[in-house]
Amino acid sequence: APLVTLAGIDKVFQNGTIALSGLDLGIREGEFVSLLGPSGCGKSTALRILAGLIPASRGAIGWAGGGDAEAHQRDIGFVFQEPTLMPWASVADNVYLPLRLRGVSRKAASQAIDSCLSLVGLEQFAKSYPRELSGGMKMRVSIARALSLRPKLLLMDEPFAALDEITRFKLNDDILRLQQEFRCTIVFVTHSVFESVYLSSRIVVMAARPGRIIAEIDVDAPRPRD
Ligand code: ADP
Ligand code: ADP
Repeated sequence: APLVTLAGIDKVFQNGTIALSGLDLGIREGEFVSLLGPSGCGKSTALRILAGLIPASRGAIGWAGGGDAEAHQRDIGFVFQEPTLMPWASVADNVYLPLRLRGVSRKAASQAIDSCLSLVGLEQFAKSYPRELSGGMKMRVSIARALSLRPKLLLMDEPFAALDEITRFKLNDDILRLQQEFRCTIVFVTHSVFESVYLSSRIVVMAARPGRIIAEIDVDAPRPRD
């Protein structure tokens, strides 16, 4: 059964731009889905609607067990294209932020912070500040932060777009390892064919004008192991 389903989603922005038209997409538990398509085809919009960050103009979002995206906020981790870390806070405090917003004390959170940082290989950098880290390390802190609430669904919006190719390769392997350890469902927005084939179990191909799905591909490749 799907974890979350988008049915007949249209999105028309206030300036009249039609970003999505009749989008149907079901995300099954444990899947790694890539949304692949050219710039402007509505990938980010679809992801933001899934996350409940923006409303759809038309259509329905159905969660397993009922409730809307707001009711499922706790189940959703979101990684933006830019790492968006707080420069004045240490790495550990950046990872703590979502827990703090949930009212978890710093002390109660410390184990969760440590385990998320070690998932991304940055446990020794807990006391560092974002400015001391490379681009790839900052992105890994963002991923650790998105994992701190142990989300069922991890949404990633072209997370590696700003990084060099070698760092992207390393992070791709980190993400695969992380999904195996963490067993979350991932929806990953990319315009890289390579990344979608390498990472996902299913590729959803989108086209622009109007934003819609034109193909779905089940990737049956063997997955890399540690
Ligand atoms: P992608 O992620 O595939 O690059 P987006 O979902 O960002 O595509 O955008 C889809 C379309 O919607 C594009 O034409 C984009 O310019 C437009 N768009 C995105 N956000 C807004 C907005 N806030 N207001 C108006 N148009 C927008
Ligand atoms: P990344 O690809 O993870 O961004 P870089 O190749 O940009 O890392 O590395 C920048 C510097 O940070 C390098 O000197 C690298 O040795 C160091 N570095 C990156 N990640 C770690 C880590 N987990 N532990 C120790 N040093 C690291």
